[in-house]
Amino acid sequence: MEKEVAKHRVEQLHALINKYNYEYHTLDDPSVPDSEYDKLMKELIAIEEKFPELKTPDSPSQRVGGAVLDAFQKVQHKTPMLSLGNAFNEEDLRDFDRRVRQAVGDVDYNVELKIDGLAVSLRYENGVFVRGATRGDGTTGEDISENLKTIRNIPLKMNRDLSIEVRGEAFMPKRSFEQLNKVRIEREEEPFANPRNAAAGSLRQLDPKIAAKRNLDIFVYSIAELDEMGVETQNEGLDFLDELGFKTNHERKKCSTIEEVIVFIEELKTKRADLSYEIDGIVIKVNSLHQQEELGFTAKSPRWAIAYKFPAEEVVTTLLDIELSVGRTGAVTPTAILEPVKVAGTTVQRASLHNEDLIKEKDIRLFDKVVIKKAGDIIPEVVNVLIDQRNGEEKEFNMPEECPECGSKLVRIEEEVALRCINPECPAQIREGLIHFVSRQAMNIEGLGERVIAQLFRESLVHTVADLYKLSKDQLINLERMGEKSSDNLLQSIEKSKENSLERLLFGLGIRFIGAKAAKTLAQHFETLDRLQQASKEEFIEVDEIGEKMADALVTYFQKEEMLNLLAELKQLGVNTEYKGPKKIKVEDSDSYFAGKTIVLTGKLNELSRNDAKAEIEALGGKVTGSVSKKTDLVIAGEAAGSKLAKASELNIEVWDEKRMISELKK
Ligand code: NAD
Repeated sequence: MEKEVAKHRVEQLHALINKYNYEYHTLDDPSVPDSEYDKLMKELIAIEEKFPELKTPDSPSQRVGGAVLDAFQKVQHKTPMLSLGNAFNEEDLRDFDRRVRQAVGDVDYNVELKIDGLAVSLRYENGVFVRGATRGDGTTGEDISENLKTIRNIPLKMNRDLSIEVRGEAFMPKRSFEQLNKVRIEREEEPFANPRNAAAGSLRQLDPKIAAKRNLDIFVYSIAELDEMGVETQNEGLDFLDELGFKTNHERKKCSTIEEVIVFIEELKTKRADLSYEIDGIVIKVNSLHQQEELGFTAKSPRWAIAYKFPAEEVVTTLLDIELSVGRTGAVTPTAILEPVKVAGTTVQRASLHNEDLIKEKDIRLFDKVVIKKAGDIIPEVVNVLIDQRNGEEKEFNMPEECPECGSKLVRIEEEVALRCINPECPAQIREGLIHFVSRQAMNIEGLGERVIAQLFRESLVHTVADLYKLSKDQLINLERMGEKSSDNLLQSIEKSKENSLERLLFGLGIRFIGAKAAKTLAQHFETLDRLQQASKEEFIEVDEIGEKMADALVTYFQKEEMLNLLAELKQLGVNTEYKGPKKIKVEDSDSYFAGKTIVLTGKLNELSRNDAKAEIEALGGKVTGSVSKKTDLVIAGEAAGSKLAKASELNIEVWDEKRMISELKK
């Protein structure tokens, strides 16, 4: 990179990083994920290393935190409150270890959780809490004493009459965060982006009543004057803090090698989800205070510690293209093609954009920088666009008017967001329908993946699902990448699928709104395809969990002549059309007391789990529901039953205990 270009980029980076710092540290309202901030900071540091003359004292790489708000009294820290250097992978950790050992020889590390909250400093005079402050810019913080006093784990008087400054991380537990955001959404207020911002936002309020309601907590991890306390290591320092009556985090470990540290990190990655608070990494600290002193500090962080950051869950990448695909129902779905990027440990290059409305709502344009995360930790999703980082080359995207596969005009069916191709001969729909038919939850035909289906379709060997049962070995063997053995195997699995129970076929047909669960319920209820074909809308609706929309779809499907022909053909080809699973006991066949009754289970059961009790009652023809109403016939109350029991007595509903239920079940 040339110096002029580097200079220009440094200016851009200063502006962006300063803006993000202000949003994050001062407003507690970030607009980009941490990974994006970290990436920009890394880029800045790399340029500054290459061109040291571009490293100015006001560079964000040289500064801690953000501006201090005037609304609060300013507090001067006894010793600076610094940031931490970052490690993003094992190599970074080994580099850190090498640097440390080169400087001070053999070391032990004290490894702690990196709690995702905000750093606070607590001043005690003669054992009494006198002041608490934010980190601020590292030397000056904001006086938030009244707010900190609302955190029960901060002792107002500690166990010894010491005058010290204790440092720790104030945070909001996951549950409190979820509850707070739920209430905020109900009140149509903006939810907090994460527990860290929620904690910081709560502690930087002028009214302590707000902080008091937010259930904040704290873990402390150091004393500014630790070396004066007669302790020699960070580890002993934490024990000492425990003795003084503070809350420290006990998920900590003394490690004598960096390899041990790496094992601890791996363990924590799995444990992380079960913790009641968020952590964003692990802090590795040289244990000996003497060695810490020898290693010293840079302008921004100690040389004796490093923060290992967990792989980012939200990252920024570029949207390269929008691809359209036509599903088996004809819905046209746009998919974002992304510059490959690592999210939560795996590489992502596509993310569904669902429909046109979503693209418009989020104002997603081609070549935009977009934030990606994995929804439910699996499916990549575009969270938002970084409008700030647009450079004018982005292009608006409009959905086409014609089907990208068959060219017929797309329609938008009332009340639906998706654009649909309604041409029944659209090759994409036929192909996708076939893929659905053979899929695992449907006919489960092994060896028939998307690739082979596409091939069979292209070669005009298969057009309807019935054609699958007419395939011959000669036809298969000539296909690309298909040998004698795989042809035999495939024919065998096709043959085997003929024996499937009715629900698989029913789901495989791809009737609108009929998922695997509804297919099972229907198959269990009607038992044969013939009966299903003849059922009326009313008969469908009578079945538990089958609603009006599903009933309509079923009736429409079974009215179409081509569908009836297809089903007849399948039957003729030997495909089973009967239900083979366990039968549901019909109320009229059951002589149990529970038959036909609506029952509610409440309180703690001791002999049976709730699920088992429910299954047994249902097997005897009873119906178990979740809430007590006039329609309830019986309430089974276990230990410590609460509001449902009260409601039952209010409505004069019969109540049994667990023992009576069990003796009735055994009859
Ligand atoms: P940091 O959060 O990476 O590390 C330092 C902090 O770790 C300390 O101040 C302390 O609060 C905390 N900590 C938690 N547990 C600890 C423990 N056991 N021992 C010691 N410290 C512990 O650094 P930072 O300077 O506070 O913030 C920089 C980070 O903040 C960036 O890496 C970035 O991820 C994030 N950030 C994000 C944005 C954004 O716009 N998204 C903007 C600015 C900063």
